[in-house]
Amino acid sequence: MVMLAPGIPARSVVPSTTDQPQPIWHPSPNFGPRRDGLKPSLIVLHFTAMSKAATAIERLCDPAAEVSAHYLIGGNGRLWQLVREEDRAWHAGAGEWHGKDDINSRSIGIELDNRGDHPFSELQMSKLEQLLKDIMGRWSIASEGLIGHSDMAPGRKFDPGSRFDWQRLERQGFAACRGCDDGPQNAQPDLFRALARDAGFTADVDDETLLASVRLRYRPWAKGPLEPADFTPLGHTALWT
Ligand SMILES: [Zn+2]
Repeated sequence: MVMLAPGIPARSVVPSTTDQPQPIWHPSPNFGPRRDGLKPSLIVLHFTAMSKAATAIERLCDPAAEVSAHYLIGGNGRLWQLVREEDRAWHAGAGEWHGKDDINSRSIGIELDNRGDHPFSELQMSKLEQLLKDIMGRWSIASEGLIGHSDMAPGRKFDPGSRFDWQRLERQGFAACRGCDDGPQNAQPDLFRALARDAGFTADVDDETLLASVRLRYRPWAKGPLEPADFTPLGHTALWT
């Protein structure tokens, strides 16, 4: 017999449906059909860069703003769904990944309620992991398919940003694991570009922008010119030994 403090309801040991509530359905008018019969093969993570989830929802549902996402996760872990997964939400914009454009037709967009200058809460991260598990299962999306907005739109977008814990998602198999081999002694931009392209960073940008975008994903603390450690997360040690 468990003694409960007054006012605290007893919880069953059997998981109830209220432990994993359905997303709050808050439909946005900003969507269309996926083009060319495409199905989601990518998941794109964003931060809202706003101070409150409510303000972000308002914008993502404003016809004049012409932006949306499939999901928004609040800092407290609350989950809203704004667009059906079958439909094309307007979150990614111009850019490409692995040589493919129209990322909106190929992806599911998840907005994280975060201004961009502070850590993501545990409640929010665990809700994200739950959601990723569901989406990846439903659409057979592999860990390589989880990317950040800045990965596909280098120089134009910077989210989910330097405070996002990619390694946490890598450890759990939600994001592709980074390489861990030492980089080449002679760090050449051409080889770096080839490896970055191979990893998916194919958008047409200059060397500096490419380096900044790859660092934002893997080494957001790094500064200065290209160095051997920038090659490490991209793997493919055979190419430089
Ligand atoms: Zn974004």
